[in-house]
Amino acid sequence: MNGQAGMRPVAIVGGGWAGLACGVELAAAGLPVHLFEAAKQLGGRARRVDWDGIPIDNGQHLMVGAYRETLSLMGRLGTRAFLERRPLELRVPGFLLRLPRLPAPLNLAVGLVLSRGLAWRDKLAAARLMHYLKDRAFRLPRDEGAGDFLRRQQQPENLVDKLWGPICVAALNTPVEHASAQVFCNVLRDSLAGERADSDLVMNRADLGLLLPDAAAAFIAGKGGRVETGRKVESLSRGGAGFRLEGTDINADHVVVATHPARLPDLLFTLPGAEAILDQTDSLAWQPILTLWLRFDKPVPFPFPMLGLGGGQAPWAFERHDLDPGLVAIVVSAEGPHLALTEEALLEEYLALLAGQVGPLPRLLGWKRIVEKRATFACIPRLRRPANATPIPGLFLAGDYTAGDYPATLEGAVRSGVECARLILDSRT
Ligand SMILES: Cc1cc2nc3c(=O)[nH]c(=O)nc-3n(C[C@H](O)[C@H](O)[C@H](O)COP(=O)(O)OP(=O)(O)OC[C@H]3O[C@@H](n4cnc5c(N)ncnc54)[C@H](O)[C@@H]3O)c2cc1C
Repeated sequence: MNGQAGMRPVAIVGGGWAGLACGVELAAAGLPVHLFEAAKQLGGRARRVDWDGIPIDNGQHLMVGAYRETLSLMGRLGTRAFLERRPLELRVPGFLLRLPRLPAPLNLAVGLVLSRGLAWRDKLAAARLMHYLKDRAFRLPRDEGAGDFLRRQQQPENLVDKLWGPICVAALNTPVEHASAQVFCNVLRDSLAGERADSDLVMNRADLGLLLPDAAAAFIAGKGGRVETGRKVESLSRGGAGFRLEGTDINADHVVVATHPARLPDLLFTLPGAEAILDQTDSLAWQPILTLWLRFDKPVPFPFPMLGLGGGQAPWAFERHDLDPGLVAIVVSAEGPHLALTEEALLEEYLALLAGQVGPLPRLLGWKRIVEKRATFACIPRLRRPANATPIPGLFLAGDYTAGDYPATLEGAVRSGVECARLILDSRT
């Protein structure tokens, strides 16, 4: 055991990517860690699901090269070999943007010039917007709806429909009219306006469980920590100088609550001072993500592993030959009329859209629809998000919803977990 002898473990409530990132960081620094996960498996909203013996993801996830903390964590865990990295390529019916392997910002300039489906006025408007934002270090004087912001910046409708809108919905999981312009600009800053490799698309080539949770749990255990699944923490209460974790036999001086924010009221309600935290989270609203998994008897010939299918809700299809030779995931972000469709109607619509992109499809063997109703918080303007350090000494919050530049993403979750670990480590020196 590498943990410091006699020290009470840091308790982590929640084994999603935020809690696991925190656990790995603390364990690597030699602190004893005890992580509790209510579900039977780790991973939270980015987890492995069993589909009749085939491991799939609860929802297709996409990363970008700018996910520095996530990629560095995977480097530490030795799972980066499960990633496929490609220069950004957006293929949607009637639109193609492909960034060449040139230094930034030349890659974006050349990519825009050579793009298909945009008029010259669209391309110039896109370049003008990036220039405007760079001049202001991507900070807007005030936050507003991304749709209003883009109109005020005189971004043509075709450009918004083909480029800005799909990026916004995919990254913020919030329709462009309701999305935060500032967070949208943060995404542009860290992807399109960063270093060349920041805009790379990073796709998982193994199920999400292998990508992080399995390896993170093994890492924590290897350092003498404990990871318990199927163990729900009912609530936190004051226990002497620290906290008692109801539902477990653990007392801890430091607790990192790394659950979905909707769980905070139940967990914190008896703690004096918790109202200040709950005030900041009770205005959060949620957006869903739907993933339709399709299994064909042969591989579907994708010209690029990720294809926009067009259509109202801008679905994206991913070939997932890594999980099964004939597997395809179609992911649809945010709320919309697609959620009201029957499974059969949804299937018919998306099969037709997929065939429109890749040609006649092989024989369909099966399908599975997974809807995550509270996939992410609605990333609206001027959202109040709580900090990782709370007003209650010893209590920390990790999760994609905590204060930060990012929308609800794996990177936001991992950053928050790492930050909580750093705060705890700093408090001990
Ligand atoms: C379908 C889908 C697609 C997505 N696509 C992308 C994408 O393409 N790119 C991207 O970057 N992000 C994407 N996201 C967002 C990303 O998955 C989340 O931002 C991230 O997983 C959130 O991690 P977290 O650790 O903050 O929270 P969670 O994953 O919600 O983890 C919280 C954990 O706490 C546990 N828990 C709750 N209460 C208790 C309790 N009382 N005791 C013990 N344990 C408890 C839960 O079971 C859960 O495992 C997607 C999300 C979904 C759902």
